[in-house]
Amino acid sequence: MTKRVLMVGAGLSGAVIGRRLAEAGHALTIIDQRDHIAGNCHTDRDAETGVMVHVYGPHIFHTDDEEVWHYVNSFDRFMPYVNRVKTTSGGHVYLLPINLHTINQFFGKTLRPDEAKAFIQSLADETIGEPKTFEEQALKFVGRDLYEAFLKGYTVKQWGCQPDELPASILRRLPVRFNYDDNYFFHRFQGMPENGYTAMIGKILDHERIEVNLGRRFDRAEAEGFDHVFYSGPIDSYFGYEYGRLGYRTLDFEPFRYDGDYQGCAVMNYGDVDVPYTRITEHKHFSPWEKHEKSICYREYSRACGPDDIPYYPIRLSEEKALIAQYVDRARQEAGVTFVGRLGTYRYLDMDVTIREALDTASTYLASVSEGGKAMPAFCVEP
Ligand SMILES: Cc1cc2nc3c(=O)[nH]c(=O)nc-3n(C[C@H](O)[C@H](O)[C@H](O)COP(=O)(O)OP(=O)(O)OC[C@H]3O[C@@H](n4cnc5c(N)ncnc54)[C@H](O)[C@@H]3O)c2cc1C
Repeated sequence: MTKRVLMVGAGLSGAVIGRRLAEAGHALTIIDQRDHIAGNCHTDRDAETGVMVHVYGPHIFHTDDEEVWHYVNSFDRFMPYVNRVKTTSGGHVYLLPINLHTINQFFGKTLRPDEAKAFIQSLADETIGEPKTFEEQALKFVGRDLYEAFLKGYTVKQWGCQPDELPASILRRLPVRFNYDDNYFFHRFQGMPENGYTAMIGKILDHERIEVNLGRRFDRAEAEGFDHVFYSGPIDSYFGYEYGRLGYRTLDFEPFRYDGDYQGCAVMNYGDVDVPYTRITEHKHFSPWEKHEKSICYREYSRACGPDDIPYYPIRLSEEKALIAQYVDRARQEAGVTFVGRLGTYRYLDMDVTIREALDTASTYLASVSEGGKAMPAFCVEP
């Protein structure tokens, strides 16, 4: 039997779930408060330079999930792209993640892998037993010099607090490679959609049983008349901030244009704490198969998210964890709605994980329908 489903949010979560349900014969209404689809993955061509811009910050697709890789490739051609990030620190440019080249350049040495491993071990602070904070973890892994040059300033700017206020769990593994591999990601598949993420998500949404309404903000009365709602907006907003606001970091992007090649790479981080921005993104380098004389760059600043700002990174420290637990309990008492995606579950999710969870959520819904309308859970993944 055909179900009428309301999807709040036309980002990746909404599009992928919506498409699967539409293909199974259900009727989807997708609303988004913004005037464009694709959520935070939105890309748009800059009229002045012709460059494809990642409007809400740089997005590089990378995954080990073969099914997800095939899925995205069925909606757009993925062009080869390897993310190689640089950082400016103390008046020099280095390669990230910290690798053999970074170490040799930083210390003025010509170490081979084994020698570098022993050298870094000799720098590690062995007085620290079980590290409790990000700072202790970093000092235990790499010692003070590398920590201060590459980790400290960036972290202070990104999270707006001192690294000794952040948990050690943020830095789970040694942030150093003892070879010359500067590919930022470990995943098997990596690339960029040839025509940008918005075109790709537009194709996912292009189905006769999907109706998309933009510029429309959800309120709970809209659920009336639908068999089920999937909600990919902020969970605290759904409940009218009943228990307070969940903490996020927001980003400000300061665009500037340049005649030529401004920095020679897509992403340049700034590790020094006295440089107010965290990084500069030069968008044309995300599409190396295109040729553009002119360039558009974004200086990126991070700060606490206010009520009118776009929520980007969930903070998820102990205070926020207690608050999200309250919203999760509240959500479990609400019938007819499933919370999905990065805002609905208050987690940082890469695009491939978002798609994987969306595909699995759609399967859960289809199974519940075929089992005679078994109730859908408020969450298909524990937030
Ligand atoms: C700065 C940054 C960089 C990133 N870089 C990468 C990267 O390089 N690689 C990677 O794999 N992932 C990256 N990500 C993650 C990626 O952005 C997410 O995986 C993806 O956006 C999640 O999709 P979503 O649909 O869950 O959420 P969103 O994209 O946020 O979509 C949610 C949609 O819901 C809409 N909405 C919210 N509330 C309402 C309401 N009340 N009524 C109507 N509509 C509403 C919003 O307008 C939005 O369009 C990055 C994220 C950030 C913040």
